[in-house]
Amino acid sequence: PLQLDRISCRFGRHEVLKDISVEVPAGQITCLLGESGCGKSTLLRLISGVERPTSGAIFMAGRQITGEGVFVEPEQRRIGFMFQDYALFPHLSVADNLTFGLRDLPGDLRRARVTDIAERIGIAHLLDRFPYALSGGEQQRVALARALAPQPAILLMDEPFSNLDQGLRERVRRETVDTLRKLGTTAILVTHDPQEALAVGDQIVLMKQGRIEQIGSSFDIYDRPNSAYCAEFMGPCN
Ligand code: ATP
Ligand code: MG
Repeated sequence: PLQLDRISCRFGRHEVLKDISVEVPAGQITCLLGESGCGKSTLLRLISGVERPTSGAIFMAGRQITGEGVFVEPEQRRIGFMFQDYALFPHLSVADNLTFGLRDLPGDLRRARVTDIAERIGIAHLLDRFPYALSGGEQQRVALARALAPQPAILLMDEPFSNLDQGLRERVRRETVDTLRKLGTTAILVTHDPQEALAVGDQIVLMKQGRIEQIGSSFDIYDRPNSAYCAEFMGPCN
């Protein structure tokens, strides 16, 4: 339900994104993949609306949210976030962390929403705990539940697993992907790890220095790279 149409973004003389066009299909996971500095996080900021592109347009569910003379404020965009450093609020219980994004709902609906998402994500038994009393994996599940509780139209994840150690990372990644598929969530996941993109992405957008190098399925990107750069970037991970 998200469409990026010829997005470019310049900071001073530095052109960080150049002519980016991507369609993000509903109910799927799209991975933005590329080396450090290629513009992945900047692209997420343009989608969330905390930054504006120099040119180009963004459409969400058919409605233009960014473009010439058009700008929908970030809080009107129905976007959920899960970032590596998007920590839980330490002074709030798990239940209150989940409730945080639901302030605009009436109380009974809010409680129902919290119960529902907690059950779906398997954290119903943790609702009274505080973040310090959770394992890293549990914290990650709570962060996912908090991001999904407001029922965002799209979930943006910027390297959400990168501060978990290897073994846990793979488990949490698998759990997260299972949850997103079960709920039919539309998501964009940023990573610099080709293996992660191959494991998670229905669609992979390989970026290089602010441009799109190749877009396709894991199969396309891995088995049919259309450039030496793509082959080399994806290569060592088999
Ligand atoms: P990483 O994998 O390291 O997180 P990234 O792909 O997310 O990298 P971005 O954070 O999008 O990269 O940054 C892309 C480029 O844009 C970098 O060279 C960065 O220095 C530059 N940049 C980002 N934001 C700004 C800004 N507000 N002003 C000036 N330059 C910026
Ligand atoms: Mg980044």
